[in-house]
Amino acid sequence: MSVENNTSSKPVIQVLGAGPAGIAVAYALAKSGKSDVEVLERAPVGGGNAASFMIDGIICDYGSHRFHPVADPDVLNDVKSILGDDLLLRPRHGRIRLGGRWIHFPLKPLDALLRLPKKFGFSLLGDSLLKPLRKKSSGPRTFSTVLYDGLGSTIAENFYFPYVKKLWGIDPEKLAVKLAERRISGTSVSKILFKMLRMLPGMGDETTGKFFYPRKGFGQICDGMTASAIELGASFQFSSDITRIERDGDKVQAVWIKGKDGDVRHGSDQLLSTVPLTTLVNLMDPPAPQAVLEATKAIKFRGMILLYLVLETDQFTEFDAHYFPELSTPISRMSEPKNYYASAEPKGVTVLCAELPCDPDERWWDMSDKELGEHFCGWLADVGLPVTVAVRACHTRRLSHAYPVYDLNYEANFNTIDQWLLGLDGLLVFGRQGLFAHDNTHHAIAMAYGAADCLNDAGQIDTAKWAAYREEFAKHTVED
Ligand SMILES: Cc1cc2nc3c(=O)[nH]c(=O)nc-3n(C[C@H](O)[C@H](O)[C@H](O)COP(=O)(O)OP(=O)(O)OC[C@H]3O[C@@H](n4cnc5c(N)ncnc54)[C@H](O)[C@@H]3O)c2cc1C
Repeated sequence: MSVENNTSSKPVIQVLGAGPAGIAVAYALAKSGKSDVEVLERAPVGGGNAASFMIDGIICDYGSHRFHPVADPDVLNDVKSILGDDLLLRPRHGRIRLGGRWIHFPLKPLDALLRLPKKFGFSLLGDSLLKPLRKKSSGPRTFSTVLYDGLGSTIAENFYFPYVKKLWGIDPEKLAVKLAERRISGTSVSKILFKMLRMLPGMGDETTGKFFYPRKGFGQICDGMTASAIELGASFQFSSDITRIERDGDKVQAVWIKGKDGDVRHGSDQLLSTVPLTTLVNLMDPPAPQAVLEATKAIKFRGMILLYLVLETDQFTEFDAHYFPELSTPISRMSEPKNYYASAEPKGVTVLCAELPCDPDERWWDMSDKELGEHFCGWLADVGLPVTVAVRACHTRRLSHAYPVYDLNYEANFNTIDQWLLGLDGLLVFGRQGLFAHDNTHHAIAMAYGAADCLNDAGQIDTAKWAAYREEFAKHTVED
């Protein structure tokens, strides 16, 4: 069935995916009034990995989510104006587990000095003093060589290497340099020390050591922006099952969606895709060239299970998050949502959210919630945080696309896919999943604003302008 859904004279823009990137582009386009926008989302709700939901009266996110004050001013100002007083500025108050000790995270100079295991502290000092004499790694540069050369063996081997092995499931020497560039802001001891010094009173600015967090959960950012976009005229179709993307040679023409009486054609002047680039390629009709299909098979996303342990107590600890870089603890981080939105309500219950990086072929993936809950309690006991209160339940959520995997071949595979997609007329791809970018929410929103800026009144893309934006996006560095 064919639906020509445009009754106005404006170009029709279809957006695939209603995570932060898809929602933000709909908001920006609706605000500009340049086009009619329709967002097509597979899930019954918006927000993607940055959404929130309720468990036993407690607002939960898909793992620890903070809105970082380093966001572009345009992005930050919009989020502030949409959320108003609901956007809280909260102090970061986490702990990291190293060598059997807890150290404040983000690192603070005095705390680190007193709490870091002595041997670790001396080796770190040695690495730092001997850096000028250290022989640079020979052979091809990888994540591992960049960290050895920049930081020395102590912090690389004790902190970063186990942490990335846990997060990505592969050894650091099989990870690309790009991961160090995107993920690690402190690639030298002096940069780490500089960050620590900014934590001293009077050394930073009013947001140093703080983060923004909405009173009703991180998902309030997406919910608020969706409501504003709808008010401005954008439309959202949730639970949309996209069956194919019709193209005629190099021109993308329409999106087909499953309907009650057969597939329905949604004609499009410009398709803006924020869904995983692999999904996008696989939906193409006629199919993509063989080389693109092979690159699509080879490129990988890392999955994650989120475990939500419901405990019958007001608060488990005073900390927002606990970080576990060492391989002896399978989870990478644990957060307590009530401590993010600073509420004592509801009384007598709290939730602990653990992030367990894992792929569908790993043993954790098919375990029952009950079994995973028992493991979770065991991991906490092992790090000296035994659960001594009643456990009401353990719930789980599984993310298939938590992190893009920057292995040594990813760049070649990504470029093959990206170049083909860039050559298609009537299609623009962005967002964390679309550009295989290890980005924060404020980056996804910034990409969306860039995309909206590149669309002219006829619904066409200024490709030179987009190329310049892409160079800017490549400089994004992830905040933790
Ligand atoms: C564990 C974890 C912690 C994080 N912590 C932070 C943090 O502290 N701060 C921060 O700023 N960022 C954080 N992030 C990153 C943040 O979640 C992402 O940057 C953000 O969600 C990216 O937005 P996006 O719209 O590009 O992608 P997504 O949020 O992934 O949205 C993509 C959307 O596309 C939809 N989709 C997929 N396939 C289809 C299909 N076939 N048809 C239609 N729709 C489809 C999905 O359902 C989803 O809604 C974290 C991410 C993870 C995994």
